[in-house]
Amino acid sequence: MHSLNINEIYYSVQGESTYAGLPCIFIRLTWCNLRCTYCDTEYAFYEGKEMTFPEIKDEIKKYDCRLVEITGGEPLVQKRVHNLMTELCDEGYTVLIETSGSLPVRDIDKRVVVIMDLKTPSSAMMHKNRYENLEYLKPTDELKFVIGSEEDYIWARETIKQYQLTDKCRLLFSTVFTSFSPKELVDLILRDHLPVRFQLQMHKYIWDPSIKGV
Ligand code: SF4
Repeated sequence: MHSLNINEIYYSVQGESTYAGLPCIFIRLTWCNLRCTYCDTEYAFYEGKEMTFPEIKDEIKKYDCRLVEITGGEPLVQKRVHNLMTELCDEGYTVLIETSGSLPVRDIDKRVVVIMDLKTPSSAMMHKNRYENLEYLKPTDELKFVIGSEEDYIWARETIKQYQLTDKCRLLFSTVFTSFSPKELVDLILRDHLPVRFQLQMHKYIWDPSIKGV
């Protein structure tokens, strides 16, 4: 029977992406192959327990909600996540996956909405970006740049131009919560007429930013 190592499953409000504000079930998988400077989910690097697919499904059935996000850590580290996503799509769930973009997205079920990062310079993980992943993003997928400095912003702006990303998928810009002011980022976006969606990590404003499971 298939199983995955799960850090936590919880029901909350989606804090990011174009799904922000919607009730959502989060399945957080254990382990990550990156170590971003601004990581806020380090507890997912090692803590978790093995759960079979029926156990995972029993848990999510407790909530009257059809939107599920698979997150981490880095959820694609565990290959069986592909089977889980397909089964959840077959059962009629809208499935989102949040990935760092450091592992292949090519084989993700096409019904899944991929929310993928391109790591910026201040993450110190830019060398892990797999640019070949860009080829597999659909118009309904979302590409996220987490901006921690003006250098990050300029890099993101130029990368969008270089890879002609404007019409490829939805583009999200957010700030590193503690190190770059939302106003500063919005000013830069407006100055350059950049066709991206600015977003705040909504959950960090609703709850204490250090609280887990929200
Ligand atoms: S990819 Fe995500 S979970 Fe992994 S270190 Fe970076 S921010 Fe943390």
